[in-house]
This record gives sequence, structure tokens and C-alpha cells, in this order.
Amino acid sequence: MITSFDLLLVALAIIIMWGGLARRWAAWRMGQAEVRTGDFKGVITYLLGHKKILKNRGIGFLHLILFWGFVVALILVIIGQFNLTMPSIAANILSFVMDILGAFMLLGTLFFLTRRLKATGERAPKGLLFSLIVLLVIIVTGFFAEGTRLRLIQTGFSWASPAGWLFSTFLPSSPLFMQLMIRLHFFAVLFLISSLPFTFMRHLTAGVLNVYYRTTGSSGALREVSLVEGSVGAKRVSDFTWKQLLDAEACVSCGRCDKHCPAFLSDKPLSPQKVIRNILEHMEKGNHNGGKSKTLEFPLLESVIKGDEIWSCTICMACLESCPLYIPCFDKLVDMRRNLVMMESDFYPELKAFLRAVETFGDTFGRGKAFREDWAVGLNLKIYKENQQAETLFWVGCQATFHERGRLIAASLARIFRTAGLDFAILGKSELCCGDPVRRVANEYLFQRLAHRNIELLNSLGFKRIVTYCPHCYNTLKNEYPQFNGKFEVVHYTELLRDLIIKGQLKTTREVHRKAVYHDSCYLARANDIHQDPRDILESIPGMELSEPEYSRKDTFCCGAGGGHMWMREAPGGKLNEVRVEELLKKSPEMIITSCPYCMVMLDDALRSLGAEEVRCLDLIELIQDAA
Ligand code: SF4
Ligand code: SF4
Repeated sequence: MITSFDLLLVALAIIIMWGGLARRWAAWRMGQAEVRTGDFKGVITYLLGHKKILKNRGIGFLHLILFWGFVVALILVIIGQFNLTMPSIAANILSFVMDILGAFMLLGTLFFLTRRLKATGERAPKGLLFSLIVLLVIIVTGFFAEGTRLRLIQTGFSWASPAGWLFSTFLPSSPLFMQLMIRLHFFAVLFLISSLPFTFMRHLTAGVLNVYYRTTGSSGALREVSLVEGSVGAKRVSDFTWKQLLDAEACVSCGRCDKHCPAFLSDKPLSPQKVIRNILEHMEKGNHNGGKSKTLEFPLLESVIKGDEIWSCTICMACLESCPLYIPCFDKLVDMRRNLVMMESDFYPELKAFLRAVETFGDTFGRGKAFREDWAVGLNLKIYKENQQAETLFWVGCQATFHERGRLIAASLARIFRTAGLDFAILGKSELCCGDPVRRVANEYLFQRLAHRNIELLNSLGFKRIVTYCPHCYNTLKNEYPQFNGKFEVVHYTELLRDLIIKGQLKTTREVHRKAVYHDSCYLARANDIHQDPRDILESIPGMELSEPEYSRKDTFCCGAGGGHMWMREAPGGKLNEVRVEELLKKSPEMIITSCPYCMVMLDDALRSLGAEEVRCLDLIELIQDAA
């Protein structure tokens, strides 16, 4: 039973914890304004199921046990203060559950402790060792107290306390020792509570808050920035929004982002974990005066996050997908790029010519509208004009309009649409770049100009939906144009063709006896959850033998073209496309299939540079064309 003095100590521990948390919260709240709505239901689901944490099964399971062990123990301690009586069978079952949970918690803590002690280098989570030792003291003293109690009442083996009984076999039969253990247990709990803001355990608050405020829509949409006032992007840590700073505060340095980052895995000079840690350290440096000082001069981010890191990111969103606390790294790097490009005209050298081409000609190839309809010559397609309306607008995209192979694929897709009886039209000379690569290389001004122009045109037409070939166009039209009031129904061709096959409007009857592996595009699978549709299409082709690579669906591996890298010289380190193709080749495929024009070019290049020309890289459209 808790005494008044104990209650005073509990209150003191809570006050210390609250003061510490307030000080830390003041740090991330220094960030710029950003409107976010919380998702309470999402947090409850997250905590109940631990789905995201369980992506790493072993560690995730132990985390689940530790978390729920403490929650249940806390609830029982609180209930225990009310002197409630319960039937002995219920009390025994409860005791058994707590005993088993406690045993798992002990094993989990010992496992984490051994792992931490073996870990070397700066990547280990800060303050974890201290928290684990306190946790261990809490669990061990709990079992010692229970074991001594069982020894004192000499019940022998009790099914209600199997682990407690095990401890009782070697503990003294001493009431004094039991009292000592109970007090130690209590003080260790108080110590854990009061030290929470200053140790690794603060992720219990910052992590949960970060899950509450996480981005719930597509991860493929970059944040909109105002070009009207002040500086653009991030030069100092205080230029990030409060949510971006909360991301850093919530990070537990687990390293999962590094393990899934294609740049890191290809030995590029980028570690998302390090970027987040650097931001946190800068934030802590600026948190003097309880974080109230707005005038505090923060160090420049560039002193710890270098240009090569900023430009190595392919904006593939793998860091966000793999992070157990929904922390993206790429949004910070994009904001740093924005500052370099928009405020200091500090471009990656090759990007100058690329951006000039888009600005002058409205396409990524620098060809101009006069050549926009060349790919469609002889197809006699409808082109949107006042008297030529259609239900579906086929947004072709720059890559399919101008790239040699892309043009053939665009023509094939148009023929497939026609075979399926689809009423569609193209924009022809009126189509401009959607702006995806321009935004990702941080020319937000040019992106917004293109977006406004395209939205104005699209709003003036009478179509029902847009279908795109390129996943990047799909993502921009669907997820980024709504930021500028451009709201359209957008589908990717894989979704549309799957529907047409199911409805029987398109038949894939010709047999294709080939071993194939499907490469998911980041902007389809990860950003927009489209990974089953292409597989359904492939499985509808008789004879097709499909295997899954290690990195697939939402956990796919970037081809290396994203984030503007299609137009940039390869950063130091290995080649992303070769790393990806080497992994795909482990499945011994005869064909690598994709449904993105960028992925197709990158993977095809890698097949050649690796001397694996006998394996063909095809777009799904080329395969359907053969099978239909
Ligand atoms: S977006 Fe991709 S490349 Fe960039 S940091 Fe995240 S995982 Fe790495
Ligand atoms: S950002 Fe997320 S995945 Fe990366 S180290 Fe921090 S918590 Fe782990």
C-alpha cells in the first residue's frame, strides 16, 4: 500500500518529468508553423498492434512485450491502491499473466542490454544503456520481492507465479530483504519516470506524438512552400517546421532507415540516421533559455550536412517506410536543397541545363511542343480540342513523348486502350512537364508555375479521369496538384488495365512462357500503394512465371533515377541501378518487368553495364502488347 510520503515522491517524480519534457518540447516547437491534424485512432492502433515496429520481427516482439508489460503492470499497481477483492481464480490468472509477461520483459531487457553492450560506434541510441539498466533493476527487484514473498509463505511451486517460484529457490527467507526489494523497485520506477525526458525513454512521449501527427496521406507529396514571403528552405535548424523538429526528437537511432536507404546501401555519402541525428544535435544547441530565445543564432546546417549528402537522396521514401516512428529524412534534405537552389542559386552543375530546358521548352528533353505529337503519328488519336472531348485523358509524360523507346511504349499503350474500347484523348502540343523532377531538384518556383498552368488547362477540359503512363506524373497530378486546387481523378495505367482485364474488355490470352521478376517503382508501390495491380496483370498472362525479389512492393529498392538523379552525374559510391539489378538477378529471371519509364531506362542500362544482356528489361505495356 502506498503511503502519503510515497505519493509525495510520485508527485515529485512527475513534476521533474514534466519540467524536463516542457524544456525539450520548447526546442522542437521553435520550428516554423505547419498545419497538421492528429490521428488519435491511428495512435491507438499503432500501440495495440505494433505493426510498424513488428516489421523487424524479433526486436518488434520484444518491444511489444516490454511496452505492454509496463502498461499492464502500471494499471495493476493503480488498481491495487483501491483494495478491491477479486475471486482467487481471477487473481491467480492475473498473477500468472503478469509473471509470464515479467519473464519475457526480463529476457527482452537482457537481450537489448547485451546487444547494446556489443554495439560499438556512434550509431547506438543515446542514453539507451542507462534506461536499460534502470529497467533491469525494476524487473529484477520485482521478481526478488515476489520470490522472497513465496519463500516466506512456503507454498512450494505455484502455477500462478512460475517465474517468481524459480527466484524463490535461491532467495533468503527474510522479510527485511523483501521490504528492501520492494523499496528499491519503487525508487527505480520513480527514477525512470523522472529521468524520462533526459534519456532514451523520451521516445515514449515524442514517438507517440510523432505517430499522432504523422502524414496520413501519400508519402509521395512534397510539402508546399510559400514563395511570397521570406527565405525558402532550410539553412539553419530553426528553418524547419515544428513537425520536422519533432521527427528528430522522436528518433530512437534504430538504424532501420539506413538499412533501407538505397543511397546508404550503395555506399553514397548519405546516412538518413546521421542526418536526423545532426538535426537533433543542432536543435539541442539552440535550446538555451528553455527554447524561448528566437534570436538565438543556430549553427549553419551545412557544417554537418554536406552538399553530397543533400544531393545523394533519390527521394524514394524508403526511410519513411522503414522507420518505426514514421520519420522521413528526405523532406529535410529537400528543404535544404530548396535553400541552396532558391536562395543561393547553388545548383548541382548538370541541373542548370536541365532546368533551362524545362523552363524554355516545357519538357525535360528540351525539345518543345512542336514535337509533342510525333510519337502518335499514324495512330489517329483524339486530341483535346473544343470539339474533341473524351471520357479519359491520357497524360503521356515527357519520357514517353520524347525518349526513343518510351515513344514506342506510349504508342503501344494507346493501341491497347483502343483495343479495349476506351474513349480517350491526349493533350498533344498542349501537354507540358508535370513538374515532378523540377520540384525534386528544388526549383519550387518553376514547379509551381508549371502546376498552375497545367491545372488551369485541365480544369478547362471535360474529361472524367486522367490515366498516366509514368508513376511520377501520376503522383504529381494526384497528390501534389491538390495543393494548388487541382483536384482530379487520376489512375495509373496498371490500375486501368487490370480493371479492363477483369471486365473482359482486354484479354491476355497469348502464352508467354518466361521467368520474370517485377520491379516496383517507388512512386507507385511505396508512395501510392499500387503493387498488386501489376502483379494481377502479370498473373493473367498464361505461362508467366513470376518471382518476388527481396526488396519488393512497399519495400522496393530505388532504380536510382528519382530525386532528379536521371539528370545528374552519379554521386560518389556505387551505382544504385546496378545494386538493384544484381539483387533482381538473384531470382534468375529471363525478364525484368517494370511499369515506370525511368526505372526501365535505369535497369536496362544496368543490365548492359553488368554484362547481363541476355536478360530483357520490359515495361509491362510491352508484355501486354505481346500477350493480348
Ligand atoms: S528518400 Fe531514399 S535515398 Fe533519400 S534518405 Fe530516404 S531512403 Fe535514402
Ligand atoms: S529516423 Fe526512424 S528509422 Fe531512422 S534511426 Fe531514427 S527512428 Fe530509426
